[in-house]
Amino acid sequence: ERAEWAKLKTATTVTADGKHYELAANIGTPKDLDGVHANGAEAIGLYRTEFLYMDSAELPTEDDQFEAYKEVLESMSPKPVVVRTMDIGGDKHLPYMPLPEEMNPFLGYRAIRISLDRQEIFRTQLRALLRASAFGKLRIMFPMIATIQEFEAAKKIFLEEKANLEKAGTKVADDIQLGIMIEIPAAAVLADQFAKHVDFFSIGTNDLIQYTMAADRGNEHVSYLYQPYNPSILRLVKHVIDAAHKEGKWAGMCGEAAGDPIMVPLLLGMGLDEYSMSATSILKVRSLMKRLSTTDMQKLSEVAMNEHISNDQNKELVEKNVH
Ligand code: PEP
Ligand code: MG
Repeated sequence: ERAEWAKLKTATTVTADGKHYELAANIGTPKDLDGVHANGAEAIGLYRTEFLYMDSAELPTEDDQFEAYKEVLESMSPKPVVVRTMDIGGDKHLPYMPLPEEMNPFLGYRAIRISLDRQEIFRTQLRALLRASAFGKLRIMFPMIATIQEFEAAKKIFLEEKANLEKAGTKVADDIQLGIMIEIPAAAVLADQFAKHVDFFSIGTNDLIQYTMAADRGNEHVSYLYQPYNPSILRLVKHVIDAAHKEGKWAGMCGEAAGDPIMVPLLLGMGLDEYSMSATSILKVRSLMKRLSTTDMQKLSEVAMNEHISNDQNKELVEKNVH
């Protein structure tokens, strides 16, 4: 098995019926790049930039951020890098940025909600990203988007900062895709509308499952409700993928489920384009995909979504037919 994986390091990801899918890595800092290359990632599908803010004693400067983004983009070039703007709040706090005490932090002031409110922080991050865009293939995504208005507001700020930099003679890329995380059920339900506005979706199952099932992702007392293969989750995911494709956009996934050997066959059957996971899962998933036919998986995913009524049934379905 190890020997096969070693060979797969330099291969692209192709299914038994010859279809190519992109296996990408999730990272938190430029230090993770070694693992990304060692495991043959075809892209970075999620760069969680909040660690830049959490590992610092004060707000990271534009130059600090620029250096980190540039290092990641250069190292991956010409492969794409999806950078997610700051996702602070929820369970992630900054000592130098006091946030209000909240009854329900996961339903509170976090991520894009902070960015749109405290625009100087957001604009600084976008300027750093725009400057770094000259050094590789940058894609930007916004976390915790609930409404199209939030996306449009974020995009407007992005375009303003881009125009300012260009006016000042700074070189920035002209083909930066702007996408959103699909991790709030409202955005998943309205994906057909969102798809007319964004360049891509990346489905964040870690949060999408907790919000759809109303079960805290870190609470062991309700962990039985954390069900990636529940038909409700699968249908929601399928709706998002179809909505993207209808508008000629791509759909990826960057939650834990994207590297889960039970979930991957179902996602393949649903037509997911990009799978972003911890680097250490990539070779295992590449080897799995090589054995799978998309048409077979399509049939399997239809059973999972339309005939089955539980998470466990679907787990068994994949175990029996694939593993
Ligand atoms: C997610 O919610 O699935 C996700 C990838 O983001 P995070 O785990 O950082 O909330
Ligand atoms: Mg999330």
